[in-house]
Amino acid sequence: MKINIDRSRCIGAGQCALTAPKVFTQDDDGFSELLPDHEEALDGAAVKESVKVAVRVCPVQAITIE
Ligand code: SF4
Repeated sequence: MKINIDRSRCIGAGQCALTAPKVFTQDDDGFSELLPDHEEALDGAAVKESVKVAVRVCPVQAITIE
């Protein structure tokens, strides 16, 4: 699973970090970024599922997965 965050769309709502805290965090300005060790976390099925939920809950559709 490859995760893309369109930071030009992100409004810093933080839903991704709340929904999938093992994958997303927020930078000092509140914008979403991937945690450095997110790829290991994605080995877990529950974490993968949480990313799919994050895609759905992002209010500006800034997250896409491949
Ligand atoms: S949920 Fe969407 S808008 Fe909010 S921080 Fe995450 S990527 Fe940005």
